[in-house]
Amino acid sequence: MAASHLLSSTREILDKLIGFPTVSADSNLDLIAYAANLLEDCGARVSVSGDGTGSKANLYATLGPETAGGLVLSGHTDVVPADPAEWHSDPFSMREADGRLHGRGACDMKGFIAAALAKAPEYAALDLRRPLHFALTYDEEVGCFGARQLAEDLRRSELLPSVVIIGEPTEMRVIEGHKGCYEYTTSFHGTDGHGSEPEKGVNAIHVAARFIGRILELAEDMRLKTGADSARFSPPWTTLQTGRIEGGSARNVIARHCTVEWEMRPVREADAQQVKAALEAYCRDDLLPRMRAVCADADIVTEVIGEVAGLAVMSENEARDIVRALTGANLCDVVAFGTEAGLFQALGMSVVVCGPGSIAQAHQPDEFVSLDQLDKCLDMLTGLEETLVNPA
Ligand SMILES: [Zn+2]
Repeated sequence: MAASHLLSSTREILDKLIGFPTVSADSNLDLIAYAANLLEDCGARVSVSGDGTGSKANLYATLGPETAGGLVLSGHTDVVPADPAEWHSDPFSMREADGRLHGRGACDMKGFIAAALAKAPEYAALDLRRPLHFALTYDEEVGCFGARQLAEDLRRSELLPSVVIIGEPTEMRVIEGHKGCYEYTTSFHGTDGHGSEPEKGVNAIHVAARFIGRILELAEDMRLKTGADSARFSPPWTTLQTGRIEGGSARNVIARHCTVEWEMRPVREADAQQVKAALEAYCRDDLLPRMRAVCADADIVTEVIGEVAGLAVMSENEARDIVRALTGANLCDVVAFGTEAGLFQALGMSVVVCGPGSIAQAHQPDEFVSLDQLDKCLDMLTGLEETLVNPA
């Protein structure tokens, strides 16, 4: 059981955080200013960096020595929209009932941020020998943009931390891996013409059909590539699928345009690169030459909607080992949802996902985090003191 004053200050801070309607489309600056104040009050060195539009910012704060090898508590500040008609109370005003704190973002992931901020004064009072960082980012729900900017800042920094704990809602289970999520829209531009003379036009739907056929072949290739590193995922391979297609104007007109919305969920980064390279080569060497033999302006354009790298399971992972020891978990898991973890892992940092509340409540009406989960989270955060004061 965490000390009761910690739980009550977590509740107070969460009440404030939920009150900032930080839907991804809107500003998070008021929340960032509030958190910056709290952290500065306990002596943290706080830096706030804007996204260039003036409406979003990341916060990065440090307690303890100015050295590399620190530990990061990371959370995104944005939330998904909430339709008040579907809620039993105002989504942006915290409501407590039956040991649960309700509000948009309660578990995804303001509960974790509130617990970390509530602990900040206690960390600050210790003689920290290893730095502790707080990373609050923007726009996770729409593509991890804030975390991308933070990763860029860290890449240039000489004080790269080594351990990252991402407090996404896992019911405090220790998550050491998740698949990536790569999303694309590919547009095919042909020429129209009368349906009775198909060879005089470039039928974009027909080209798209071949492209989708190639996606299916690659999906089959990926299905065969199971291994020890994928065994725990469901299904245990990299998947590809086409979710939406749109094109053409009428039955008897050659289709000039077609767009295909497709995605892949790679188990490993190499799979993603292999699929992308194979599809690029197919368009460049096969589809485009045939299209352009009829019409020089024909084209295929692929737009990247989002490329969120997975969190690869590593045999050595200090972040996982620290959190596993603190939570008493015997087993580590992998999950189906994505986080910004892969961005940090790409910098060579060890990363684990562990936070209060359940993903089942995230993005739902009446979202909540239970006091019991916050209590367990505070225990974990308190347990971290040892590695900060007496680093190995
Ligand atoms: Zn989240």
